[in-house]
Amino acid sequence: MPELRKDPIHGRWVIISTERSRRPSDFVPEERKPMGGFCPLCEGNEDRTPPEIIAYRDNGTPPNSPGWTLRVVSNKFPALRIEGDLNREGEGIYDKMNGIGAHEVVIETPRHHETLATMPLKGVAHVLTAYRDRIADLKNDQRLRYVLVFKNHGVAAGASLEHSHSQIIALPIIPRRVVEEIEGAKNYFNYKDRCVFCDIIRQEIQQKSRLILENNAFISVAPFASRFPFETWILPKTHYSSYEHMNSSLYEQAAQTLSRMNRVLNDPPYNYVIHTSSFSGLEAEHYHWHFEIMPKLTKVAGFEWGTGFYINPTPPEEAAEYLREAK
Ligand SMILES: [Zn+2]
Ligand SMILES: [Zn+2]
Ligand SMILES: [Zn+2]
Repeated sequence: MPELRKDPIHGRWVIISTERSRRPSDFVPEERKPMGGFCPLCEGNEDRTPPEIIAYRDNGTPPNSPGWTLRVVSNKFPALRIEGDLNREGEGIYDKMNGIGAHEVVIETPRHHETLATMPLKGVAHVLTAYRDRIADLKNDQRLRYVLVFKNHGVAAGASLEHSHSQIIALPIIPRRVVEEIEGAKNYFNYKDRCVFCDIIRQEIQQKSRLILENNAFISVAPFASRFPFETWILPKTHYSSYEHMNSSLYEQAAQTLSRMNRVLNDPPYNYVIHTSSFSGLEAEHYHWHFEIMPKLTKVAGFEWGTGFYINPTPPEEAAEYLREAK
Protein backbone atom coordinates (compact mmCIF):
# COMPACT_ATOMS: atom_id res chain seq x y z
CA MET A 1 0.00 0.00 0.00
CA PRO A 2 1.44 3.40 -0.95
CA GLU A 3 1.58 5.99 1.85
CA LEU A 4 0.83 9.71 1.98
CA ARG A 5 3.20 11.59 4.29
CA LYS A 6 2.97 15.21 5.29
CA ASP A 7 5.99 17.46 5.62
CA PRO A 8 5.46 19.17 9.00
CA ILE A 9 7.24 22.35 7.89
CA HIS A 10 5.75 23.04 4.47
CA GLY A 11 2.45 21.22 4.90
CA ARG A 12 3.29 19.44 1.66
CA TRP A 13 2.14 15.87 1.10
CA VAL A 14 4.27 13.31 -0.73
CA ILE A 15 3.36 9.87 -2.02
CA ILE A 16 5.77 7.18 -0.86
CA SER A 17 5.06 4.75 -3.65
CA THR A 18 6.01 1.32 -2.38
CA GLU A 19 4.48 -0.35 -5.45
CA ARG A 20 7.15 1.24 -7.57
CA SER A 21 9.93 0.56 -5.09
CA ARG A 22 13.27 1.00 -6.80
CA ARG A 23 16.83 0.15 -5.95
CA PRO A 24 19.72 2.45 -6.84
CA SER A 25 20.54 0.49 -9.98
CA ASP A 26 16.94 0.85 -11.24
CA PHE A 27 17.30 4.57 -11.86
CA VAL A 28 18.27 5.16 -15.46
CA PRO A 29 18.83 8.73 -16.69
CA GLU A 30 15.98 9.83 -18.99
CA GLU A 31 18.26 10.23 -22.01
CA ARG A 32 19.30 6.59 -21.84
CA LYS A 33 15.81 5.11 -21.46
CA PRO A 34 14.80 3.13 -24.51
CA MET A 35 11.49 4.08 -26.16
CA GLY A 36 9.59 2.19 -28.80
CA GLY A 37 9.17 -1.57 -29.00
CA PHE A 38 5.89 -3.14 -27.92
CA CYS A 39 3.09 -0.65 -27.17
CA PRO A 40 0.34 -1.76 -24.74
CA LEU A 41 -1.80 1.27 -25.64
CA CYS A 42 -2.18 0.46 -29.36
CA GLU A 43 -5.42 -0.94 -30.78
CA GLY A 44 -5.33 -4.74 -30.67
CA ASN A 45 -3.38 -4.88 -27.39
CA GLU A 46 -6.39 -4.30 -25.10
CA ASP A 47 -5.54 -7.42 -23.06
CA ARG A 48 -2.24 -5.81 -22.04
CA THR A 49 -3.86 -2.98 -20.06
CA PRO A 50 -6.16 -3.17 -17.02
CA PRO A 51 -9.86 -3.35 -18.07
CA GLU A 52 -11.66 -0.30 -19.44
CA ILE A 53 -13.33 2.11 -17.02
CA ILE A 54 -14.97 3.87 -19.96
CA ALA A 55 -14.45 3.69 -23.71
CA TYR A 56 -15.91 5.49 -26.69
CA ARG A 57 -16.97 3.09 -29.43
CA ASP A 58 -18.92 4.10 -32.52
CA ASN A 59 -19.71 0.63 -33.71
CA GLY A 60 -20.99 -1.32 -30.72
CA THR A 61 -17.83 -3.44 -30.37
CA PRO A 62 -17.53 -5.23 -26.98
CA PRO A 63 -15.42 -3.77 -24.12
CA ASN A 64 -11.69 -4.49 -24.08
CA SER A 65 -11.57 -5.33 -27.78
CA PRO A 66 -10.59 -3.29 -30.87
CA GLY A 67 -12.99 -0.76 -32.39
CA TRP A 68 -12.62 2.10 -29.88
CA THR A 69 -11.74 5.73 -30.43
CA LEU A 70 -10.74 6.40 -26.79
CA ARG A 71 -10.28 4.26 -23.67
CA VAL A 72 -9.79 5.07 -20.01
CA VAL A 73 -8.11 2.34 -17.94
CA SER A 74 -6.57 2.11 -14.47
CA ASN A 75 -2.84 2.75 -14.40
CA LYS A 76 -1.03 -0.57 -14.38
CA PHE A 77 1.50 0.85 -11.90
CA PRO A 78 -0.73 3.15 -9.83
CA ALA A 79 0.77 5.79 -7.56
CA LEU A 80 -2.31 5.38 -5.34
CA ARG A 81 -4.72 2.52 -4.63
CA ILE A 82 -8.48 2.75 -4.97
CA GLU A 83 -9.30 0.00 -2.42
CA GLY A 84 -9.09 0.52 1.34
CA ASP A 85 -9.52 3.10 4.08
CA LEU A 86 -7.53 6.25 4.63
CA ASN A 87 -6.44 5.33 8.17
CA ARG A 88 -5.23 8.81 9.02
CA GLU A 89 -2.72 8.54 11.84
CA GLY A 90 0.19 10.21 13.56
CA GLU A 91 3.70 8.87 14.03
CA GLY A 92 5.25 11.08 16.68
CA ILE A 93 5.14 14.59 15.25
CA TYR A 94 4.42 13.31 11.74
CA ASP A 95 1.12 12.72 9.92
CA LYS A 96 0.41 10.04 7.40
CA MET A 97 -2.40 8.11 5.78
CA ASN A 98 -2.84 5.26 3.37
CA GLY A 99 -2.26 6.14 -0.26
CA ILE A 100 -5.90 5.90 -1.33
CA GLY A 101 -6.90 7.47 -4.60
CA ALA A 102 -7.52 6.82 -8.29
CA HIS A 103 -4.86 6.73 -10.97
CA GLU A 104 -6.23 6.40 -14.49
CA VAL A 105 -4.82 6.57 -17.99
CA VAL A 106 -6.70 8.17 -20.86
CA ILE A 107 -5.61 6.48 -24.08
CA GLU A 108 -6.37 9.31 -26.45
CA THR A 109 -6.28 7.50 -29.77
CA PRO A 110 -6.01 3.92 -31.08
CA ARG A 111 -3.27 5.07 -33.48
CA HIS A 112 0.29 5.06 -32.22
CA HIS A 113 1.70 8.14 -33.93
CA GLU A 114 -1.25 10.52 -33.60
CA THR A 115 -0.94 13.34 -31.04
CA LEU A 116 -3.33 15.97 -29.73
CA ALA A 117 -1.66 18.45 -32.07
CA THR A 118 -2.14 16.28 -35.15
CA MET A 119 -5.29 14.17 -34.59
CA PRO A 120 -8.69 15.10 -36.07
CA LEU A 121 -10.63 17.69 -34.02
CA LYS A 122 -13.21 15.07 -33.11
CA GLY A 123 -10.49 13.08 -31.33
CA VAL A 124 -9.49 16.09 -29.22
CA ALA A 125 -13.16 16.64 -28.36
CA HIS A 126 -13.37 13.03 -27.13
CA VAL A 127 -10.34 13.47 -24.89
CA LEU A 128 -11.69 16.64 -23.27
CA THR A 129 -15.12 15.07 -22.79
CA ALA A 130 -13.57 11.96 -21.21
CA TYR A 131 -11.83 14.20 -18.64
CA ARG A 132 -15.18 15.74 -17.75
CA ASP A 133 -16.91 12.36 -17.43
CA ARG A 134 -14.18 10.91 -15.22
CA ILE A 135 -14.03 13.97 -12.94
CA ALA A 136 -17.81 13.83 -12.48
CA ASP A 137 -17.63 10.15 -11.55
CA LEU A 138 -14.64 10.43 -9.19
CA LYS A 139 -16.37 13.25 -7.30
CA ASN A 140 -18.82 10.67 -5.98
CA ASP A 141 -16.11 8.97 -3.92
CA GLN A 142 -16.46 10.38 -0.39
CA ARG A 143 -12.83 9.62 0.47
CA LEU A 144 -11.47 11.91 -2.26
CA ARG A 145 -11.06 15.68 -2.30
CA TYR A 146 -9.31 16.68 -5.50
CA VAL A 147 -8.70 15.43 -9.01
CA LEU A 148 -5.87 16.49 -11.29
CA VAL A 149 -5.92 15.83 -15.03
CA PHE A 150 -2.46 16.09 -16.52
CA LYS A 151 -0.43 15.14 -19.53
CA ASN A 152 3.25 14.38 -20.00
CA HIS A 153 4.19 14.55 -23.68
CA GLY A 154 7.70 13.48 -24.65
CA VAL A 155 10.45 11.83 -22.60
CA ALA A 156 11.77 15.16 -21.28
CA ALA A 157 8.30 15.89 -19.88
CA GLY A 158 8.16 12.56 -18.07
CA ALA A 159 6.26 10.37 -20.54
CA SER A 160 7.31 6.72 -20.32
CA LEU A 161 5.14 5.63 -23.26
CA GLU A 162 5.22 7.25 -26.67
CA HIS A 163 1.54 6.56 -27.47
CA SER A 164 -0.57 9.70 -26.84
CA HIS A 165 -2.16 9.49 -23.40
CA SER A 166 -2.95 11.59 -20.37
CA GLN A 167 -3.50 10.74 -16.73
CA ILE A 168 -6.01 11.42 -14.00
CA ILE A 169 -5.09 11.24 -10.33
CA ALA A 170 -7.75 11.70 -7.66
CA LEU A 171 -6.43 12.45 -4.17
CA PRO A 172 -7.73 12.28 -0.59
CA ILE A 173 -6.19 15.72 0.11
CA ILE A 174 -6.09 19.05 -1.73
CA PRO A 175 -2.53 19.57 -2.97
CA ARG A 176 -0.66 22.55 -1.56
CA ARG A 177 -0.09 24.23 -4.92
CA VAL A 178 -3.80 24.09 -5.63
CA VAL A 179 -4.63 25.41 -2.16
CA GLU A 180 -2.22 28.31 -2.76
CA GLU A 181 -3.88 29.15 -6.06
CA ILE A 182 -7.40 28.98 -4.63
CA GLU A 183 -6.37 31.02 -1.56
CA GLY A 184 -4.59 33.59 -3.73
CA ALA A 185 -7.70 33.99 -5.87
CA LYS A 186 -9.80 34.28 -2.73
CA ASN A 187 -7.63 37.03 -1.27
CA TYR A 188 -7.88 38.99 -4.52
CA PHE A 189 -11.65 38.53 -4.50
CA ASN A 190 -11.97 39.66 -0.89
CA TYR A 191 -10.01 42.81 -1.72
CA LYS A 192 -11.55 43.71 -5.11
CA ASP A 193 -14.86 41.86 -5.24
CA ARG A 194 -13.89 40.51 -8.63
CA CYS A 195 -12.45 37.22 -9.87
CA VAL A 196 -8.75 37.57 -10.64
CA PHE A 197 -9.03 35.26 -13.64
CA CYS A 198 -11.93 37.27 -15.09
CA ASP A 199 -9.83 40.41 -14.59
CA ILE A 200 -6.85 38.80 -16.34
CA ILE A 201 -9.07 37.79 -19.27
CA ARG A 202 -10.46 41.33 -19.62
CA GLN A 203 -7.04 42.94 -19.52
CA GLU A 204 -5.35 40.47 -21.88
CA ILE A 205 -8.11 40.84 -24.50
CA GLN A 206 -7.76 44.60 -24.30
CA GLN A 207 -3.96 44.73 -24.17
CA LYS A 208 -3.43 42.02 -26.81
CA SER A 209 0.38 41.74 -26.40
CA ARG A 210 0.20 38.39 -24.61
CA LEU A 211 -2.96 37.14 -26.35
CA ILE A 212 -2.31 34.12 -28.57
CA LEU A 213 -5.73 33.00 -29.71
CA GLU A 214 -9.34 33.85 -28.98
CA ASN A 215 -12.68 32.28 -29.88
CA ASN A 216 -16.17 33.00 -28.63
CA ALA A 217 -15.67 31.09 -25.38
CA PHE A 218 -11.91 30.91 -24.64
CA ILE A 219 -8.63 32.79 -24.76
CA SER A 220 -5.10 31.39 -24.86
CA VAL A 221 -2.51 33.69 -23.32
CA ALA A 222 1.11 33.77 -22.34
CA PRO A 223 0.74 34.66 -18.64
CA PHE A 224 2.27 37.97 -17.51
CA ALA A 225 4.62 36.23 -15.06
CA SER A 226 5.29 33.12 -17.18
CA ARG A 227 7.57 30.70 -15.37
CA PHE A 228 8.70 28.89 -18.52
CA PRO A 229 9.35 29.89 -22.15
CA PHE A 230 6.07 29.58 -24.10
CA GLU A 231 4.00 28.79 -20.99
CA THR A 232 0.39 29.13 -22.13
CA TRP A 233 -2.91 29.24 -20.26
CA ILE A 234 -6.29 28.52 -21.76
CA LEU A 235 -9.01 30.42 -19.90
CA PRO A 236 -12.78 30.11 -20.37
CA LYS A 237 -14.39 33.53 -20.80
CA THR A 238 -17.45 32.52 -18.79
CA HIS A 239 -16.82 32.29 -15.07
CA TYR A 240 -17.08 28.76 -13.70
CA SER A 241 -15.01 27.14 -10.95
CA SER A 242 -15.15 23.58 -12.18
CA TYR A 243 -14.16 21.91 -15.40
CA GLU A 244 -17.51 20.13 -15.69
CA HIS A 245 -18.79 23.38 -17.16
CA MET A 246 -16.35 23.22 -20.07
CA ASN A 247 -17.97 24.42 -23.24
CA SER A 248 -17.92 22.32 -26.39
CA SER A 249 -15.75 24.84 -28.26
CA LEU A 250 -12.86 24.06 -25.89
CA TYR A 251 -11.58 21.35 -28.23
CA GLU A 252 -11.00 23.83 -31.07
CA GLN A 253 -9.15 26.21 -28.79
CA ALA A 254 -7.03 23.44 -27.23
CA ALA A 255 -6.25 21.78 -30.56
CA GLN A 256 -5.25 25.06 -32.18
CA THR A 257 -3.13 26.16 -29.25
CA LEU A 258 -1.26 22.85 -29.18
CA SER A 259 -0.79 22.70 -32.95
CA ARG A 260 0.65 26.21 -33.00
CA MET A 261 3.06 25.23 -30.26
CA ASN A 262 3.89 22.17 -32.32
CA ARG A 263 4.72 24.28 -35.37
CA VAL A 264 6.70 26.99 -33.58
CA LEU A 265 8.68 24.67 -31.31
CA ASN A 266 8.81 21.55 -33.52
CA ASP A 267 6.84 19.04 -31.42
CA PRO A 268 8.22 20.11 -28.03
CA PRO A 269 7.96 17.96 -24.90
CA TYR A 270 5.34 19.53 -22.66
CA ASN A 271 3.12 19.07 -19.63
CA TYR A 272 -0.34 20.39 -19.15
CA VAL A 273 -2.63 20.39 -16.14
CA ILE A 274 -6.26 21.28 -15.64
CA HIS A 275 -6.86 23.28 -12.50
CA THR A 276 -10.43 22.96 -11.28
CA SER A 277 -12.18 23.49 -7.95
CA SER A 278 -11.84 20.95 -5.15
CA PHE A 279 -14.65 18.47 -4.53
CA SER A 280 -15.93 20.46 -1.58
CA GLY A 281 -15.47 23.89 -3.19
CA LEU A 282 -18.77 24.32 -5.00
CA GLU A 283 -19.12 26.92 -7.70
CA ALA A 284 -17.40 29.93 -6.16
CA GLU A 285 -17.16 33.55 -7.24
CA HIS A 286 -13.41 33.66 -6.65
CA TYR A 287 -12.11 30.58 -8.51
CA HIS A 288 -12.05 30.00 -12.27
CA TRP A 289 -10.98 26.69 -13.89
CA HIS A 290 -8.23 26.73 -16.53
CA PHE A 291 -5.58 24.84 -18.46
CA GLU A 292 -1.85 25.45 -17.89
CA ILE A 293 0.44 24.24 -20.69
CA MET A 294 4.17 24.15 -19.97
CA PRO A 295 6.61 23.23 -22.75
CA LYS A 296 9.77 21.64 -21.34
CA LEU A 297 12.41 23.73 -23.09
CA THR A 298 14.59 24.50 -20.08
CA LYS A 299 15.46 22.43 -17.01
CA VAL A 300 14.28 23.34 -13.56
CA ALA A 301 17.54 23.51 -11.61
CA GLY A 302 19.12 24.44 -8.29
CA PHE A 303 18.02 28.05 -8.06
CA GLU A 304 14.41 27.15 -8.79
CA TRP A 305 14.43 24.30 -6.26
CA GLY A 306 16.05 26.48 -3.63
CA THR A 307 13.85 29.52 -4.01
CA GLY A 308 10.67 28.82 -5.96
CA PHE A 309 11.88 31.50 -8.40
CA TYR A 310 11.90 30.67 -12.08
CA ILE A 311 14.25 32.19 -14.61
CA ASN A 312 12.47 32.51 -17.93
CA PRO A 313 14.65 33.47 -20.91
CA THR A 314 11.69 34.18 -23.25
CA PRO A 315 9.47 37.18 -22.45
CA PRO A 316 5.81 36.12 -22.67
CA GLU A 317 5.10 38.99 -25.09
CA GLU A 318 7.61 37.49 -27.54
CA ALA A 319 6.33 33.95 -27.06
CA ALA A 320 2.78 35.16 -27.73
CA GLU A 321 3.87 36.92 -30.91
CA TYR A 322 5.47 33.74 -32.29
CA LEU A 323 2.38 31.68 -31.46
CA ARG A 324 0.00 34.32 -32.86
CA GLU A 325 1.83 34.39 -36.16
CA ALA A 326 2.06 30.59 -36.52
CA LYS A 327 -1.19 30.31 -38.41
ZN1 LIG B 1 0.85 2.62 -29.42
ZN1 LIG C 1 -13.70 34.30 -13.13
ZN1 LIG D 1 -3.63 27.07 -12.15
